[in-house]
Amino acid sequence: MTFDYAPALESRSIVDIKASYGLFVNGEFVDGSGTSFKTINPATEEVLAEVAEASDADVDAAVKAARRAHTRVWSRMPGKERAKYLYRIARIIQERGRELAVLETIDNGKPIKESRDVDIPVVAAHFFYYAGWADKLEHSGYGTRSLGVAAQVIPWNFPLLMLAWKIAPALACGNTVVLKPAETTPLTALLFAEICQQADLPPGVVNIVTGAGATGQALVGHADVDKVAFTGSTEVGKAIARAVAGTDKKVTLELGGKAANIVFDDAPLDQAVEGIVDGIFFNQGHVCCAGSRLLVQESIADELLTKLKRRMSTLRVGDPLDKNTDIGAINSAEQLARIRELSDIGEAEGAGRWSPECELPTTGFWFPPTLFTGVTQAHRIARDEVFGPVLSVLTFRTPSEAVDKANNTPYGLSAGVWTDKGSRILHMAGALRAGVVWANTFNKFDPTSPFGGFKESGYGREGGRHGLEAYLKGGE
Ligand code: NAD
Ligand code: MN
Repeated sequence: MTFDYAPALESRSIVDIKASYGLFVNGEFVDGSGTSFKTINPATEEVLAEVAEASDADVDAAVKAARRAHTRVWSRMPGKERAKYLYRIARIIQERGRELAVLETIDNGKPIKESRDVDIPVVAAHFFYYAGWADKLEHSGYGTRSLGVAAQVIPWNFPLLMLAWKIAPALACGNTVVLKPAETTPLTALLFAEICQQADLPPGVVNIVTGAGATGQALVGHADVDKVAFTGSTEVGKAIARAVAGTDKKVTLELGGKAANIVFDDAPLDQAVEGIVDGIFFNQGHVCCAGSRLLVQESIADELLTKLKRRMSTLRVGDPLDKNTDIGAINSAEQLARIRELSDIGEAEGAGRWSPECELPTTGFWFPPTLFTGVTQAHRIARDEVFGPVLSVLTFRTPSEAVDKANNTPYGLSAGVWTDKGSRILHMAGALRAGVVWANTFNKFDPTSPFGGFKESGYGREGGRHGLEAYLKGGE
């Protein structure tokens, strides 16, 4: 008997990865004048493609193209015409969604069920949402005049989603952009460049320059950019803030986080367990707003941890292209080394380390879902952003102790609250120093909702009406 199965819908064969990629400048792919680098599949360590490393001269050419397109075309175009391009891009993203999801999973290591069901739909939603604003800016209250050329630098954890958060509002408001994707995940940005061609977007409105930190530095430091939008580590964010200080560039920074996920004794525990798992194991924990500190009320701590361990034992770690996979590959060898180092420090500092039995693939970069109990506020694993599938558990007795512990961090991006009482949710939302507070849910992303940080998590908001403010000359 033979079985002729059709290939999986999300099979690797639906993407066409080229051997090498140039830069996307002025509507065309051009060779870089510098060197090149390789991007790999972190689940297999297979080299996927050779990608150009943009030099200072390449960055300059991209900024010039963006400037020309802004002055001559994009800023003069009526909002309702700009909207048509954004709607067209949104629709093409939906049409090519499967291809984008597979490519994202191959280049990044994230599970296909996440890239397919979360990343790509939310990417399309952002373009649809901001397309809708393009002809309604006079109602926003944030002005109607664009800033000019936006320099945008993004990280590797949500490559296409971060691109959408940056490009959609910028274009809706009449700006042109030069975007630099992260060095380990450039491929979906380059496919997005093809989508811009397919949508007939005027040349120079979107430019993509690939490269590492030096390329990013050349871009944000370029004298002719009007706006810098950065998502990434707090360390690089601070360096960028210093680099643009004293210029009249507008800046938004979305940086790191160390969110508290707070479970009160009246919370529905099974639901909370799902939220805790989603909060820290979604995207291998490579999430700036990950619920990496579980604060659980002392009276229910034992019961909750028993349930949580049982649930963690059912998580499947492995092939990101398998649609049953819950936890995929760690994005890079460097990130894996950092996760290992911080976890070893956690153990050395005396916290209890636990992972379910799980067999990890022998090639690629992997880390099991991990729990640290008996963590105190002084422990490095309670303070530093691990950016991996590692959860620290702390306990509290009273609501005010929960607030104090939750806010005891240099970060302030997000928080979660699990309780049956509406009044407690409202109280906690006001008391927590975090840009987003989720109640009885976690990691919900919607283009209508602003996102951003307090303290060392950065400044400025992306998403929603507030996201327009960052791309308009206000009050004029
Ligand atoms: P990173 O800061 O090293 O890199 C981010 C991007 O900045 C990359 O494209 C990189 O090439 C570029 N870059 C590096 N040095 C630069 C410089 N001097 N000037 C300009 N650009 C430079 O961050 P990472 O380690 O790759 O990413 C993980 C970090 O990003 C985590 O700390 C995480 O919390 C943060 N992050 C935050 C958010 C958010 O929305 N707040 C989202 C995703 C990731
Ligand atoms: Mn890669």
